Parts: sequence; structure tokens; C-alpha cells
Amino acid sequence: MLQQDFITIQLPKNELVIMPTSVLTRLHQYRQLKFWHKEKGGIFLGRYRGQYIEVTDVTLPQHDDICGRFFFNRCSSLHQQTAYQQWQNSNSEITYVGEWHTHPEQFSTPSTQDITEWQSKLSGSFESMLLCIVGQSTDWFGCFQDGVISKETSSSLTSCPQNYQL
Ligand SMILES: [Zn+2]
Repeated sequence: MLQQDFITIQLPKNELVIMPTSVLTRLHQYRQLKFWHKEKGGIFLGRYRGQYIEVTDVTLPQHDDICGRFFFNRCSSLHQQTAYQQWQNSNSEITYVGEWHTHPEQFSTPSTQDITEWQSKLSGSFESMLLCIVGQSTDWFGCFQDGVISKETSSSLTSCPQNYQL
């Protein structure tokens, strides 16, 4: 069987996101497949290395996040605490690299509210931020770069990405 251990996501401006498929699998358990499933979300953690954004971990939904069928508000302080702990334990290498949440849509796309929120929340970030909306069958990937939100240009599954550093 062909091994597909990583997903690579090509962003505009030649940056490449490298994420273990095990991370994506953890997000897929929150797919909103039933009508009572609420939106869930968290943040991506990883490192910036040249043109690469290497996702190493995610934070998962918490009980004190506020969510409903069509909204998600990442209120729990645990997301930020986890980012801070990993940053400290990694000699400032692992950091907050993006945002994810789910949508009750088969093929997910950002809502107008998502765009507005990302624009205001991420406006101070110097680095590119990965954005992901987990859909019922497919996920939407994009990024926030220099104040602009754009969709990925391509993504693929691979066993061993070039130049990947564990
Ligand atoms: Zn949304």
C-alpha cells in the first residue's frame, strides 16, 4: 500500500505547508456529519523554516469554547496556553501558525464572517498563517499573507516531502 503520511499545501507566494496526515485525521473527527453536530475549532502549531510552514500539532475543541451549528468562537484560554507552552519548550521554535474550524457544508468555504474575523484577528501577524475549514467531505485550505486571504493553489498527499525536517 502506498504510504501517504503528509499533506502538502502550496500557498501563493511560493510557501509550502507540510502537515502530517495524522494531524488532519484528528480534525476530521469533528466533521459536522449530523444535524446536531456543532462547529468546532482550534489552532495550528508548527514552525516557519524558509519557504516551509511545518505543522506539528493542533489544539482541539474545548468545553469553554462557544459554539453552535453555524458559529464557533475560540474562547477557551487553553489554545493560547498550549501555544505558549510549546513555544517555551521548543526554544521559541514552535509557534502559532494558523486557525481551523468546521462547517456543516459538504464542500466548505469561508463565510463573510470568517473573512472579517480573520482579517481583524490576524492583521498583526508578520508571518503567513494557515487557514483551514473542515467540511463534511472536503476541507478548504487557505492562508493569510500580508493582509490578504487567499485559497491554496494545490495540495497533495505524499509519503516523504522534500526537505522536510522532523
Ligand atoms: Zn466559518
